[in-house]
Amino acid sequence: MSTVKHYTKEELELYRSKEMPFISRMKCTDHLKQCVECASLLKELETEDAFVAELRESIKLFDELSQSSGE
Ligand SMILES: [Zn+2]
Repeated sequence: MSTVKHYTKEELELYRSKEMPFISRMKCTDHLKQCVECASLLKELETEDAFVAELRESIKLFDELSQSSGE
């Protein structure tokens, strides 16, 4: 029985941001195709990302609103 090495959130973050070396990325892509666990972890990161982007957008909107009323 071989032990499968799973990826951590940190590693998947590197994978996503393409800061992972090419060979490691290839391995990771391969692993993600077969591993539901790691694939869902990657999805989690993407969801967090979308949430942060949404948050930033509403902060920006708030800033614009308070700036225009300050005129
Ligand atoms: Zn895995």
